[in-house]
Amino acid sequence: MALLIKNADVYAPEHLGVQDVLTAGETILAIGRDLTPNIPGLETIDAKGRILTPGFFDQHVHVTGGGGEAGPVSRTPEIMLSSLIKVGTTNVVGVSGTDFVTRSIPNLLAKVRALAVEGLSTWMYTSNYHFPPTTLSGSVADDMLLVPELLGVKIALGDHRSSFPTLQDVLHLLADIRLGGMISGKKGLLHIHLGDIPGPFEMFAEMAAMGFPAYRHVLPTHCSRKDTVFAASVEFVKAGGRADYTTGGGCYLPRPADAVAAAIDMGADASHLTFSTDGQGSMPRFNDKGEMIGLGVGGCEGNLEAVKDLINVHKMAPEQALTFITTNVAEGLGITGYGRVQTGFKANLNILDDAFDVATCVSRGRVMMLDKEVLVKGTFEL
Ligand SMILES: [Zn+2]
Repeated sequence: MALLIKNADVYAPEHLGVQDVLTAGETILAIGRDLTPNIPGLETIDAKGRILTPGFFDQHVHVTGGGGEAGPVSRTPEIMLSSLIKVGTTNVVGVSGTDFVTRSIPNLLAKVRALAVEGLSTWMYTSNYHFPPTTLSGSVADDMLLVPELLGVKIALGDHRSSFPTLQDVLHLLADIRLGGMISGKKGLLHIHLGDIPGPFEMFAEMAAMGFPAYRHVLPTHCSRKDTVFAASVEFVKAGGRADYTTGGGCYLPRPADAVAAAIDMGADASHLTFSTDGQGSMPRFNDKGEMIGLGVGGCEGNLEAVKDLINVHKMAPEQALTFITTNVAEGLGITGYGRVQTGFKANLNILDDAFDVATCVSRGRVMMLDKEVLVKGTFEL
């Protein structure tokens, strides 16, 4: 299976100008001007006048469904493949959430693997909001070694739905993750759902002061849910950490893009900032009077919308705006060979239209959507 994309204006995310991109199997084989490969069965797409970007990351998606806070009827359904393809998300990290009873980790692993069979690049975290962690094998380190897709552990801190672990509890867990990472050849991450209650960032600073490399292993999300959380997240990044800003709701600023722009203005290292959608979680719906009238399912389009806002509202160059859903995410997760248009990297690519929407999506070398027509649908999609 080989694909030649001709005459694309390539953002790798660095701007490379007009190039041809050749993929073979699941890999980017060559990038150059006027490539004329002689490969039997070569598929060609002319992208003249269009932008080519890496396939996007979304590092926080409730792929098995989230919610459940309002009883069994409020559990959101599993995600369908096309919800991700339509917004150019070829790299997805599945997470579990509040519900640590009915949403099992084996179920999350099965869904992450199903999405991979359907054509995406997928990863996951073990556990959910709960402490002690809910694992597959009974041990965090064993989970990390035994499951290639597993990046580390998820937990909730500073949230009324969390288990309120102490500093010692979290440090013990982080030490397991760090050691499990060393043994399994992974970075080893503690992905943290942050709530509104202050404390977690002070906890990480205290660990760092004790000599533990917390800034390397802690990856907090929902960092713009509240002004105090946001301010603490910027200080955390300035000290060497990373911060993830949710684009699918739960932002105290008018737009999620404003959080990234403000963090950079406040002196945060832009390469340590990322976006994720919190997709497929439950989203309360409100009437004109602000009364909750029901629940909906969170979408996965927020990341690209935030990138567009950075470009259109904050006048940020596309090569920088794209990093928050490509290179910065891959680096934060310690995943190499993804998130960049580069020879030898995974053939995950998007061709964007004039409005910066995804027209064509290529995942692992396969054209999943062509000119906004979804060609590869999920197993249970019509
Ligand atoms: Zn979430």
